[in-house]
Amino acid sequence: MSQHDLDKHITTAAQILRQAKRAVALTGAGISTPSGIPDFRSTDSGLWEKHDPMIVASLYGFQQQPEAFYDWVRPLSRLTAEAAPNPAHFALRDLEKMGILNSIITQNIDILHTRAGSQTVYEVHGHMREMECLSCGVTADAEPVMKAFVDQNQLPRCTACGAITKPKVILFGELLPAEILHGAQQAAASCDVMIVIGSSLEVAPINSLPRIALQNGAKLIIINFGPTHIDSAADVIIRGDVATVLPRIVQLVQN
Ligand SMILES: [Zn+2]
Repeated sequence: MSQHDLDKHITTAAQILRQAKRAVALTGAGISTPSGIPDFRSTDSGLWEKHDPMIVASLYGFQQQPEAFYDWVRPLSRLTAEAAPNPAHFALRDLEKMGILNSIITQNIDILHTRAGSQTVYEVHGHMREMECLSCGVTADAEPVMKAFVDQNQLPRCTACGAITKPKVILFGELLPAEILHGAQQAAASCDVMIVIGSSLEVAPINSLPRIALQNGAKLIIINFGPTHIDSAADVIIRGDVATVLPRIVQLVQN
C-alpha cells in the first residue's frame, strides 16, 4: 500500500468513526505482535516445533500431562509477563473514553487491553489474568504464580487442594465461555462500525461477527497485513502497522 493510499484510507476510517456512537473493535494476535507477543497459532511462533499444541494445549492433554502443557506454554508465558500495551491498545482505550467505541472483542489472552485501561472487553478465548483449579474449582490471581513459574520453573498449584492449576485460557477441546460469546455477538449485532484489527478472521466463531455487524447495517474497517474472507465487503481496508495506524486514526477523530 503506497503512502498516499495509506493516508487516504486513514482519513476515511477517521471520518467513519467520527460518526460512530457504538463502534466495536475485533482484535486478534496482530494487535499484540508490536508488544512482542507472537501469534501462538502461527507456525512461525516457534511454539509448534517441539510439541503438537492440539495435544499439549488441549483440555485432555492438560488433564493427562499438565507438565507437558507448561513446558509448551513457557515461552509464551514469559513473553506475556514481560509485554506491555502498545499505542494500538491505548488508541482503543482513548476511543472508548471518547464515547465512540462501545466494546472490544478479542481473541487474545494476553490481557493487554485491560492493562491499557479499556473497560468493556470480551475475551472470547479466555485470559491469563486468573488461574483455575480443574479439581476443586478454586480460582486465583495468575500474576504471582505465573511469575514463580517463569522465574523459578515452579508449577502453579491450587492453594486449596494442591492440584496443578490452569490459566483461564480456553484450550483446544474446551467450550468458549457462553456468556462472553453471547455478549460479543450482541455487541456485533448492535454496533454501527466494526473495526477488525490484527486478525485474519480464520478462527470460528469469531470470524462470523463482521458478517453479523454488516447484516445489521454497520460499516466495516479492516486493519490487517493479510487478507480476510470479508475484505470485499469492507468500507476501508488498511494494510499497515496497527501501532502507528490506529493512533493516527484516533488523533484525526479527535481533531
Ligand atoms: Zn484445587
